[in-house]
Formats: sequence, structure tokens, C-alpha cells
Amino acid sequence: MIIAIDGPSAAGKGTLAKGLAAHFGLPHLDTGALYRAVALRVLDAGGDPGDESAAVQAAQGLALENLTDPRLRDEATGSAASRVAAIPAVREVLVAFQRDFAGQPGGAVLDGRDIGTVICPDADVKLFVSASPAARAERRALEMKAKGQPADVAEIERDIARRDERDSNRAQSPLKPAEDAHLLDTTNLDIEAALMAAIAIVQACRTP
Ligand code: C5P
Repeated sequence: MIIAIDGPSAAGKGTLAKGLAAHFGLPHLDTGALYRAVALRVLDAGGDPGDESAAVQAAQGLALENLTDPRLRDEATGSAASRVAAIPAVREVLVAFQRDFAGQPGGAVLDGRDIGTVICPDADVKLFVSASPAARAERRALEMKAKGQPADVAEIERDIARRDERDSNRAQSPLKPAEDAHLLDTTNLDIEAALMAAIAIVQACRTP
């Protein structure tokens, strides 16, 4: 069973993806981490995340250890990730890795922006997770404060809006729900309620 979860940043898709993977005993791939790792490699080399050749080189040289750097979760890395992710050649390099992961026996859970539309268009279950920009900014601020980082909710909300704009309007693989995706708005749901709703959707898809 392949479960594809898409949605904007801080809508709760990562938490739901982990929860569904644990519930159904499936491996999970956070595909945003791939774009974040490419961005971080470019930044660490002193490059510009919008520079196609630097970003493609970083994507080609990506190694598993690049996916464990704690700086991957920084806001600056997320913003740079949405810039490298807008470069079609970077996306092409990362497609094979994601499809291989999805194709393992037994299936997998993948979360990102284009899993249900481009990476796994035949996924058994597609979820599109959203939440209001204010709720997303609030959650991201709480996460940052928990890590002891300063967090300005208004600034985070502006950054989220910039990223949504870039992710939704890029030419290749823009952020959008697949036509057959189930929409899940988590604005008024806590983690447990959102997970229960997601599990119910998956179960309904398995027993038509
Ligand atoms: O989900 P996360 O915030 O970690 O993703 C970081 C950035 O990577 C996103 O803003 C988006 O531009 C890009 N991304 C993407 N396609 C994916 C996953 C992430 O374009 N499948």
C-alpha cells in the first residue's frame, strides 16, 4: 500500500505521515528533507540556492548522512529548499530516489508536495493536508520555541506565505491536490484527532 501525503509546510503532514507509517507498519520518507539537504549543501558551499548548476551538483552528490543534519529543520533551510525545488533539473535528479522508496515490497508512506500528482500518481491513498496560515505559523513558532529558538509569529506567517506562493506557482510539480486526493483540514484538529481522521480515510480506501 502506497500512501501519498501532500500539503503546504506546517499543515501537519509530517506528523500524520509518521503516525500513519507507525499505525500501518510502513516505512516513511519525508521528501522535503531531500530538498532541504540539497539546499543546505549549496549554502554550505557558499553558493546561491537559485543557481541551477550548483543545485543540480548538490542533488547528484546527496548522501544519506546529509539527511540527518539538525540544521535541515531551520527556517532558512526551508526557504532555500523551496528555491532549489523550483529548479526542474533538481526535481528530476530526486525523482528516482523517491520512486524507488515508494516501490519497496509492502509499500510506503511518502509526504511532500507532488507525491500524489507526480511521484506516485497511482498511490492507493492520497491525502492533501491543509490548515489556515495563522494555525500553521502558530505551530511552527511553538516548534521553534521548544527548540529554544526565537520565534516571531508574524514573520513566520509571512515566510510561510512566500513559500506557499513559490511552491504553488512554479512551472514544474506545483503544490496542488491530486484530483483523487482526500482533503484533510487540520486547522481545528489536534494531532490525535488529525491522525484518527487520516487513519479513517486510509481504512475506507482499503475496504471499498
Ligand atoms: O516539507 P518541507 O517544508 O520540509 O519542504 C521544504 C521545501 O521543499 C518546500 O517548501 C518545497 O519547496 C520543497 N518540496 C517539494 N516537493 C516535495 C517536498 C518538498 O518541492 N515533494
